[in-house]
Amino acid sequence: MTSELDPAAARPPGAADGGPAGAPSRAVPALVVDAVTKTYAARGRRKSAVTAVDHVSFTIEPGAAIGLVGASGSGKSTLAKMISGSQRPTTGSIRFGDTVVESLHARGLREYHRSVQMVFQDPYGALNPLHTVAYTVSRPCQNFLGLSATKALDRVHELLETVGLAPPEQFAAKLPHQLSGGQRQRVVVARALACDPELIIADEPVSMLDVSLRAGILRLLARLREQRGLSLLYITHDLLSARVVTDQILVLNKGRVVERGQTKHVMQHPQDDYTIRLLDAVATPYAAQEPPPAS
Ligand code: ADP
Ligand code: MG
Repeated sequence: MTSELDPAAARPPGAADGGPAGAPSRAVPALVVDAVTKTYAARGRRKSAVTAVDHVSFTIEPGAAIGLVGASGSGKSTLAKMISGSQRPTTGSIRFGDTVVESLHARGLREYHRSVQMVFQDPYGALNPLHTVAYTVSRPCQNFLGLSATKALDRVHELLETVGLAPPEQFAAKLPHQLSGGQRQRVVVARALACDPELIIADEPVSMLDVSLRAGILRLLARLREQRGLSLLYITHDLLSARVVTDQILVLNKGRVVERGQTKHVMQHPQDDYTIRLLDAVATPYAAQEPPPAS
């Protein structure tokens, strides 16, 4: 996506919010979520309207990694869908540089998705069972970047190596059912990276994976952010996992932000009762230690 920002004036990735040092420099706009509310109307057996997201505001600066944490039903996915442009806010606005996300239609959305990509919870559902890994990952390279089939395949191999599927020749011809859950999620991440996006929204990317595979995917996201200067919105119900990949977190309860701050600080000194309950509800092996090594 082209940015109207003057590259010289753009903040380098990682400059905001204690982001990683040494990330490659690129002129990337911030994503601004401005007083966004989403109300689902009463319909069918549901007698009253549901306010899934209630006046939420935050900014993802270039290179920053923000965690959006809340229990099931707190409005996380609704917010993710609005940021990805698949749903519109009832009120409020989402902007990425000069782009007003809720005003985008087919072509504008396509262009926006060069910059902002999603990784969903279910890697099996996200992949077409009839498509090989090479086909899945090469599609955006051909569609968005206009690469020839040969060049796209070279890029597929690079991307597979980047996400830890090596040697790539071994994975390129496989179908989703021939891969483990963790490998499938790595393919989804490779596809998300294919058009060189600036922001990845990962909605519960590890919650359907075996516990033993989760740390590896989280470390992959953290590494991609560091090496590529990617911004990340990491969505989870597991506050402790947010520590592996985020600098700041927002805690969402019934659609409202009840607490926000530096991830470490919020975890050590949670202020809101809801955050305290979320912390009590999770227990993972990396609770009190440094992020686990990549698998
Ligand atoms: P989370 O991802 O945190 O589990 P969601 O954003 O999926 O939360 O849901 C937030 C609230 O909005 C829930 O009460 C849910 O039932 C409701 N909701 C989500 N999607 C829809 C929809 N398409 N129609 C009506 N209600 C919805
Ligand atoms: Mg959800």
